[in-house]
Amino acid sequence: MNIIIFGPPLAGKGTQSKNIITNFGLTHLSTGDVLRAEKSQETDLGLKASEYSNKGLLVPDELVMKILEKVYTQSDNKKNFLFDGYPRNVIQAEHLINILEKDNNTIDFVIYLKVPKEVLLERAKIRAKEENRKDDADQNTVLTRIDEFITQTVPAIDYIKGKNIPTLDIDGNQSIEIISQTIYQNLKSL
Ligand code: AMP
Repeated sequence: MNIIIFGPPLAGKGTQSKNIITNFGLTHLSTGDVLRAEKSQETDLGLKASEYSNKGLLVPDELVMKILEKVYTQSDNKKNFLFDGYPRNVIQAEHLINILEKDNNTIDFVIYLKVPKEVLLERAKIRAKEENRKDDADQNTVLTRIDEFITQTVPAIDYIKGKNIPTLDIDGNQSIEIISQTIYQNLKSL
């Protein structure tokens, strides 16, 4: 079962992804995590990507597409991915579907965590203190990330939904436990 988890920055995708991979044995593919690891190792890719991510902007498609292709093609379990933070726009969505189609592979389920902007801004203040994430610390950067989500990622969600893939839209402004349970029950019944 391949799943995409969508949601604005700070919606709780990382937290929910952890539960999903534990409960359903999926491989977590977070392009944000890969980019942060590349950045901390100061690779060319990491440094180039951070010019964009530090400002809250999406990293150019060709960079993230390379990451996606590398992780996907090297995997020996191609039907068990949780895609987190990819796709982020329509071009990436088309790219992901094309790559999967080459292996007769599909996206089987989509989770969309919805959280109002005011709540995201409050959470940013907390996460900036707790995790020391540079892109959460500055309110303008957070606002840019939310804007990128609205202008680029929401059309990608609509594009994917247009493919008639079963989707769970879930209110992300509930407790972590309630959200986890709702996701668990939906995935269990697939
Ligand atoms: P995330 O941890 O998923 O919120 O990602 C952190 C940052 O990495 C984002 O704000 C973007 O700058 C960058 N990033 C992660 N995934 C992508 C992607 N699929 N396309 C473009 N940029 C990305």
